[in-house]
Parts: sequence; structure tokens; C-alpha cells
Amino acid sequence: MLEILRQLKDLTEVDRAIVEARNQLAKYPRTLEQLKQAQDRLSAQLKEFQDQLEKARQERRHAEKEVASLRQQISKYIDQQAQVKTNKEYQAMSHEIEQLQGRIDEWDTVGLEKLEIEDTCQRELEKMKAAMQTQRAEQEAQSKRIEELTREKKAFIEKLAVDRERLFEQLPDPFRDDYEILQDRFPGTACMPIEGEQCSGCNWHLVLQTRQAAKTGGEPARCEHCRRFLYSPES
Ligand SMILES: [Zn+2]
Repeated sequence: MLEILRQLKDLTEVDRAIVEARNQLAKYPRTLEQLKQAQDRLSAQLKEFQDQLEKARQERRHAEKEVASLRQQISKYIDQQAQVKTNKEYQAMSHEIEQLQGRIDEWDTVGLEKLEIEDTCQRELEKMKAAMQTQRAEQEAQSKRIEELTREKKAFIEKLAVDRERLFEQLPDPFRDDYEILQDRFPGTACMPIEGEQCSGCNWHLVLQTRQAAKTGGEPARCEHCRRFLYSPES
């Protein structure tokens, strides 16, 4: 392989590694954001259950107060009943007591229903709190891992940047501008192998002359379509 082609190929490989490392680095904040969103969703659900629990609790207490108040009224009627003179009055009081008893039954039913809701919410809350704890531990571990990876990737990119500068400096002057233009347009793929009869950068079907030039030519061959530098994998 021509020395210049080897240089272009090496430089392209370093540039590609930089592109890949930067792409990976760019994904990390998104991953962290997703972790945070999952935690927020669980917190919102937790809050919903807590509100539901509080509402059921208040409604149950209200029902209990109603029952207590109705019982007091019944006691009063029973006291009054002892003092009535006629049978008719006595029966009227019995009727009132019966009515009140009916209302007590209704409120008792409401109280029980609310108590069941409270139990269910309580159980769900326990489960969710446990899930949140697990999730938080996972999130912390993952955040730490991502911080480590970020440091590693940044150090790797810095090292690659030094390699890149060295390789770029070694490139003969006339090729530098062309390389930079290609690198801007096709980051990390400025110099590509021929695959079969195609440019592996843009899949253009190359003419025979170009393919032969890539194998034997004195000048680096270039794709007729995308202008990338080409090398033959056999050479
Ligand atoms: Zn091409």
C-alpha cells in the first residue's frame, strides 16, 4: 500500500474512534435522565396512593363521627322513652330509634369500605416504597458507573486527539485540506476500503480504472461519487 494511503487510513481510523467515543459520551446524559424519570414516575404514583389513603382515612373518620353522633341521639330517645305517658308516643320514639339505627348501619358500611381501601393503599405503599429503594440503589450504582465511563471516554478522546494531531502533521501538505473537507462531510470515513466493486463509504459502483488505481496507482484513488480516498483491501 502507498505510504500516503496508509497515513490517510490511519488518520481515518483515529477520527472514527473519536466520533464513536463522542457518540457514546453524548448518550450518557440521556441515560441518566431516563433513570431520573423512572424514579419521578414512581414518586408520583406513591404520592397518588398516599393521597388516596389520606382521603379514605378522612372519610372513615367522618363515618365514625356520624355513627357516634347517631348513637348519642338514640341514647337520648331511649331516655325520653322512659318518660313518655302514652303508648302512641312510645311507638313514635321506637320508630325514630329504628330510623337512626338504619342510618348507623349505612355509615358503618361506609366506614368498612373506607377501611378496606386504606388497607389496600397501605399494602401498595409498602410495596412501592420497597421498589423505590431498590430502584434508587440501582440508579446510584448506574450513575457512578456512568461517571466512571465518562471520565474514561474523555481521557480516551484526549489521547486520540494527540494521535490525530501527530498523524495529521505527518500528512503531506497537499492532502491536508482535502482530508479535512472529507472529514467534515463524512466524519470518521474519509478513507475507505473498496468492497467488491463499490466504494464502501457511499456504495457507488466504481469504474475499473479507479479500482485498478486503488491497487497499483501512484496516486491515492478516490471515489468518483463521494470523493473519499479509497484503498484496496488486497493491497
Ligand atoms: Zn464513494
